[in-house]
Amino acid sequence: MASCPNGTPSTLLHLDAQVMGGQRITTVVTKEELTEFMQSTILKRQEFDEVPFYLMDLGVVVSLYNQMISNLPMIHPHYAVKCNPEPALLEALAALGSNFDCASRSEIEAVLLLGVSPDRIIYANPCKPVSHIKYAASVGVNLTTFDSVEELDKIRKWHPKSDLLIRIKPPDDSGAKYPLDSKYGAGHHPQEIMPLLKAAEASGLSVVGVSFHVGSEATNFAAFRGAIAAAKTVFDTAARMSNNKMSVLDIGGGFSFTNSNPKLFQEAASIIKEALQAYFPNELLPGSSLKVISEPGRFFAASAFTLYAQIIGKRVRGELREYWINDGKFGSLAWVTCDEAIAKCTPLPFASSFTTSKGLTRTYNSTVFGPTCDAFDEVFTGHKLPELEVNDWLVFSEMGAYTTACGTNFNGYSTAAIPTYVVRSNQTLLAI
Ligand SMILES: *Cc1c(COP(=O)(O)O)cnc(C)c1O
Repeated sequence: MASCPNGTPSTLLHLDAQVMGGQRITTVVTKEELTEFMQSTILKRQEFDEVPFYLMDLGVVVSLYNQMISNLPMIHPHYAVKCNPEPALLEALAALGSNFDCASRSEIEAVLLLGVSPDRIIYANPCKPVSHIKYAASVGVNLTTFDSVEELDKIRKWHPKSDLLIRIKPPDDSGAKYPLDSKYGAGHHPQEIMPLLKAAEASGLSVVGVSFHVGSEATNFAAFRGAIAAAKTVFDTAARMSNNKMSVLDIGGGFSFTNSNPKLFQEAASIIKEALQAYFPNELLPGSSLKVISEPGRFFAASAFTLYAQIIGKRVRGELREYWINDGKFGSLAWVTCDEAIAKCTPLPFASSFTTSKGLTRTYNSTVFGPTCDAFDEVFTGHKLPELEVNDWLVFSEMGAYTTACGTNFNGYSTAAIPTYVVRSNQTLLAI
């Protein structure tokens, strides 16, 4: 494997900075300090309108980044900005040396604004609006993906200097919670790849490698092996057809880290390492030119964020308790299922007299709704909670992936307006 250092951290960004993404960072060393910080933040929030807030733990981001690099040292991560574009997270990852996967003009702008150089960005969207392609050309983002002849035509006209990766479908992404193959990717067989390579050649465009995505929240890691094998077929087709020696393999995202299953990523990493060794043995030899990159989104974001939502309404119906909170299915919890929401949720008494230290407390069958006037806006139902009151809080853990990024402004509840506070813990102090 050629020695390819990960992105050089920008000299402007420091992990020990006092401010990140415009947020002052509070260092918390003990659990008590974290509790104290949360309580003072909650008190501070009381003075504002009742809006939820996020806590981002920089210590967790650092620990996840280190896990990524130590398990897959030969692979350059490009954080997929769409997963969570919080400026403090982008800045932390840039300072750590991560590169970036941007899918639109504004994502590229956000990353360049941090002082990250354009060669640390892949424009990993196989189907791009012309105005965004022109923008990428104007700022020097010179690596993108494609899976159609029509896309090549736009790139030839507007950004002919861009290097290209062919996006292929992984042969089997059945284990992923959110597969992507129905939308993106050419088949890896020569009959589908050759016309694309020929069209690129005829347009004078340079296809330098292959990319794939096994689907978000992948659980069947054999999908990585199958996709790496399929990518090798494409490398071989290119070599046979026009002596094109491809040099980039992009294994996409799909990795997860959760505190309930911390070993999941290591399992994926060992299958990826084995598959690279099996299908690209020569390319992995020292001095070879193959560069392997990845595009983790969820992995870097999910467990670094905790959501604090406040109870803004309550109704008692016999033994049933119904609560309204100030975030929901049109906001941060859009993609969080009822079962996941229950697993993530911990009540945080504030207004009520209930405290966990009082030992066994009576619980009630409870339903939690979001704030908008749509019946679909139900966060969970059928879960036992202690008696809570208006102004108490519900805390949702591991809420960094596809949460704020997917929320709306429906009914005037703006997900984009939810503030984020940043703490730096000693990496293991997850909130509450
Ligand atoms: C969404 C996306 C990612 C990130 O996926 P995760 O499952 O969050 O890791 C990476 N690459 C591309 C092209 C994507 O569309």
